[in-house]
Amino acid sequence: RKREQPARLFVAGHRGMVGSAILRRLQGLASASGATLLCAGRQELDLTDTQAVDAYFAAQRPTQVYLAAAKVGGIWANNTYPAEFIHQNLMIETNLIHAAWRHGVERLLFLGSSCIYPRLAAQPITEDALMTGPLEATNEPYAIAKIAGIKLCESYNRQYGTDFRSLMPTNLYGPGDNFDLETSHVIPALLRKFDTAKQAGAASVTVWGTGTPRREFLHVDDLAAACVHLMALERDRYQAATQPMCSHVNAGTGVDVSIRELAEIIAAVVGFTGEICFDPTKPDGTPRKLLDVRRLTELGWTARMGLRDGLADTYAWFLGHRDALR
Ligand code: GDP
Repeated sequence: RKREQPARLFVAGHRGMVGSAILRRLQGLASASGATLLCAGRQELDLTDTQAVDAYFAAQRPTQVYLAAAKVGGIWANNTYPAEFIHQNLMIETNLIHAAWRHGVERLLFLGSSCIYPRLAAQPITEDALMTGPLEATNEPYAIAKIAGIKLCESYNRQYGTDFRSLMPTNLYGPGDNFDLETSHVIPALLRKFDTAKQAGAASVTVWGTGTPRREFLHVDDLAAACVHLMALERDRYQAATQPMCSHVNAGTGVDVSIRELAEIIAAVVGFTGEICFDPTKPDGTPRKLLDVRRLTELGWTARMGLRDGLADTYAWFLGHRDALR
């Protein structure tokens, strides 16, 4: 494929929180660069259908792919639907990465998750902690699928000389998130719970687990900027930073909070002044998940948005979309 051809950027998963943020970011840049943005809704293209994905690549000829499509969910969803989490993610990754190779895609970005790392990895977690110990049980099937995605990229790079990159974000939040109380992650769940409690004038809100687990949270607009930054790097630079396997890069803020601290900040953002209770019969999950982000920093990118501002932004989005939540 010749370099002079205008770029055709395919965002897989553009209706999701991550894919829609990447699309917004690319839309801001595309008009200047002359690139064409490609995306396909679920009705148009089933990403778990191998032949349909292959036909889409043949017809649309993307030059770059952002692989933001995934079956995702919080601790309860992962624990309850393990078969769906491993099957759908493996299918999506295999189909898209294989089609990208078959159709000569110049560069691909695979998005994973910090849950790929061992449950008791040393903190902050460096990229080379991958596969050094047992995973957290509540999301192991999802994590195995995401590890497989990294290994697919590495393997195609090694055997076929492709330029497939992987970015592993820490826990994400922001506009477009899933606010369903059962299946969501902690931030949308708590924004909604505290908002409902405030509206109802409730005396207390119950938060799952003990409140002691620690998590790092990255706003999805920051992540989208990181994705575009990583894709713009020269191949040599990416390869040098991810030696020896041309593997993956962490994305995070480098700062974590306890779930108790998070609940207190969310209460303040929402304006809930009642009591915060904990339900230790609900799972805590991994005790701590904080990424070492030196690799991405060395590659020239750092997060911009602080947690409090990011939560205020997300709460504003929630209030504006109350009637049309997923
Ligand atoms: P995890 O990082 O994979 O464990 O994903 P979650 O975002 O689902 O959970 C993070 C932490 O927040 C866990 O310790 C949960 O038990 C805790 N948590 C507290 N309240 C809630 C809630 O209402 N929903 C969710 N999903 N997690 C909660």
